[in-house]
Amino acid sequence: MKTIGYAATSCDAPLKPFSFERRALRHNDVAMEVLYCGVCHSDLHQARNDWGGSVYPIVPGHEIIGRVTETGPDVKHFKQGDIVAIGCMVDSCQHCDQCDKGNEQYCREGNTQTYNSPDRIDGQNTYGGYSKHMIAREEFVLHVPKNLDLSRAAPLLCAGITTYSPLRAWNVGPGKKVGVIGLGGLGHMAVKLAVGMGAEVTIISRSDKKRTDAEELKAHKYLVSSDESAMQKAANHFDVIIDTVPYKHDLDPYLPLLDVDGSLVIVGQIGPLAETSSVPLVMGRRRVAGSLIGGIAETQEMLNLCGEKNILPDCEIIKIEDINEAYERLERGDVHYRFVIDMSSLKND
Ligand code: NAP
Ligand code: ZN
Repeated sequence: MKTIGYAATSCDAPLKPFSFERRALRHNDVAMEVLYCGVCHSDLHQARNDWGGSVYPIVPGHEIIGRVTETGPDVKHFKQGDIVAIGCMVDSCQHCDQCDKGNEQYCREGNTQTYNSPDRIDGQNTYGGYSKHMIAREEFVLHVPKNLDLSRAAPLLCAGITTYSPLRAWNVGPGKKVGVIGLGGLGHMAVKLAVGMGAEVTIISRSDKKRTDAEELKAHKYLVSSDESAMQKAANHFDVIIDTVPYKHDLDPYLPLLDVDGSLVIVGQIGPLAETSSVPLVMGRRRVAGSLIGGIAETQEMLNLCGEKNILPDCEIIKIEDINEAYERLERGDVHYRFVIDMSSLKND
């Protein structure tokens, strides 16, 4: 099927309109018209080849809300007209121990990412949600709770699940003290979800600028990481810290904030960190861990929870032609707190 999208053609080229062919519908595929697509900092990293391995052209976008247009003959759970979602993965081996456990993101054979990943059957590079149409096998398509505002639901598919998964893995709930480093797309979802799970939540931000938003986000405390005396006072406080910082950074200021047996979970930077002292780890049996998105069943669980509690990201809706400006603003940290592209702005001509 012929379709259109926006693509980066090299690491320093702005995104521009791109016509391409989506694969023909397979027996277990769901095809959809894309309604909204969130803009994740990972899109920017991949468009710029920050992680290496970008294969151009790249059509980014892995926070996708769509309306089903067609289903393959073996599709059981979706029908034309359904409102559905796709996140960061579109396939996995479906038979390893991790896939069996619902951890498709940790598939032993590697998951197939929504964009910039070879398709498991035809080897073609996958293209993401900054496009008119998407196709994915049924197992990687999610149901969107009916009450959610569709224009704001897309970021749940990456920012939501990437923070929900470690919060669940570390049993966050009433009585737990959670810190969130970096109040951006992922960070503000971590705050909303941890508050929704009943934890005491502290925003850990570089400056005072976002303090006024803390109340609206229902965070209990706000800690400025550049304020040394405030950081010292907060020592030994947290059971879990979710670290969403997107660049190489120093963990040393943050580790003493953890209580004995506390964990700092990295979800932001994927790559080298600044040299870290083992002293706070050894002296408090503290841990540094990492976490990648979340499994499909867990993503559905998160969507359902957000439906029940009406948890939604704070979004700024943009047109697709404004994507390059949005990237510049994302780089400057000038977004409250997620850009979402209204895909009706992508015209055929
Ligand atoms: P974002 O909206 O740009 O937010 C990042 C926040 O980090 C900023 O708002 C800022 O918060 C803080 N920050 C930025 N630069 C910093 C620096 N140099 N030092 C310290 N703090 C800094 O980004 P996002 O979309 O939330 O994505 C965050 C990261 O998660 C990206 O690297 C992305 O690739 C990654 N990611 C990982 C996964 C996964 O599965 N693990 C999934 C999705 C995304 P303050 O102004 O409050 O300090
Ligand atoms: Zn993402």
